[in-house]
Amino acid sequence: TAAATDAAVREPLPVLGRDVTVPLVTGGEVAYAALDYAASAPALQRVWDDVAAYAPYYGSVHRGAGYLSQLSTDLFENSRATVAEFLDCRDGDQVVFTRSTTDSLNLLAAVLPEGCQVFVFETEHHASLLPWQDAQVTYLNAPRTPQQAVDTLERALADRDPHGPALVCVTGASNVTGELWPVRELAAAAHAHGARIVLDAAQLAPHHAVSVRESDVDWVAFSGHKLYAPFGAGVLAGRADWLQVAEPYLAGGGASRTVARRADGGVHVEWHTTAARHEAGSPNVIGVYAIAAACKALTEAGFDSLVAREQHLIDTVRAGLAEVPEVRVLSLFGDDAPRVGVISFVVEGWNSSHFAAALSAEYGIGVRDGLFCAHPLVRTLLGSDPQDAGECGAPEAGPGEPSLNAIRVSFGAGTPDEHVERFVAAVK
Ligand code: PMP
Repeated sequence: TAAATDAAVREPLPVLGRDVTVPLVTGGEVAYAALDYAASAPALQRVWDDVAAYAPYYGSVHRGAGYLSQLSTDLFENSRATVAEFLDCRDGDQVVFTRSTTDSLNLLAAVLPEGCQVFVFETEHHASLLPWQDAQVTYLNAPRTPQQAVDTLERALADRDPHGPALVCVTGASNVTGELWPVRELAAAAHAHGARIVLDAAQLAPHHAVSVRESDVDWVAFSGHKLYAPFGAGVLAGRADWLQVAEPYLAGGGASRTVARRADGGVHVEWHTTAARHEAGSPNVIGVYAIAAACKALTEAGFDSLVAREQHLIDTVRAGLAEVPEVRVLSLFGDDAPRVGVISFVVEGWNSSHFAAALSAEYGIGVRDGLFCAHPLVRTLLGSDPQDAGECGAPEAGPGEPSLNAIRVSFGAGTPDEHVERFVAAVK
């Protein structure tokens, strides 16, 4: 019903940290407004409760004969099944648990077949831009429309040797502009040219349902700490074939099925061909369990209502920023492009770092400033030279010069209206 939809739009999903107060330089305290979800989202209360209920019972996985070890092994493996379901994986896909999106993409880079060509837009986050340095990488220029992204990729792939292996790496939602990328169309283009595609869903999965099957991507990567679970665990899910034959990402116990001394004095190792092949060592059981709890909580809340509520927050922020003539919102695809709750901007006459510091000190609002680990993209959006090495972090613009870095506000499940309203009032 309309009333139910309206309630869903107004009612945020409970997250941790809503009671935290912070001091203001102007005196007194205020409830902390966490508006930096794109860096790390607060954990859902539900995730915390699930982890707390399990914590007394956890034990080593895949190793112990004891009851709690077996229970933990079951919960660990069931978490894999939950993640596969959350991502709508195909039969035969593997879910490998990693430390983060960065780790997942580095793992994929480590299992590329011999001679693999990699295609990646220069607009990617460094986690998806940089792991491919040992392969033959083609960096694609920033597109200014989603269609241009597809055309650019098509052209690049048409020039390659169609018989060799190739991989396209693309983000689902930008960590700078929040804009959605045409994942399905890019996957179709990749496959039409015999290439594989991996989706960096670090910013997409917390905001939209991801279907590996429907988007037809070969792999997807995301991080628990951006998906309302704590730090330390991530996922790489998708096609088993490249993963099954490559050398293990880490050599060690758990990845090896059998190890024996050889007559020549060395050791003979047979590695697992399951996800365990790339998960050597004792895994982050709590982190993995927390990711599965988050997947379940988000699925139960329903992405339709999460998206509706987030759109309401996006509209509030965009409308508020539009009323401030000095504010310029950064965008590759234009104002009307569909986006998640990640918005970067600069304020004419302001140093972005000072602006962000003032939001914190005077209003208790936590945003981020800088180049957001996507230096070429932010440089392009700010109109500075994307080929200029520049400084990492928060470079200072001289008096009267345009900003060299930007301010990013980001939010999602659990963000109350008051936080974005306070942000808009503070910017004004
Ligand atoms: N990809 C994107 C689009 C991101 O926003 C981030 C995190 N900012 C990453 C990858 C890397 O995630 P993590 O730091 O958890 O490895």
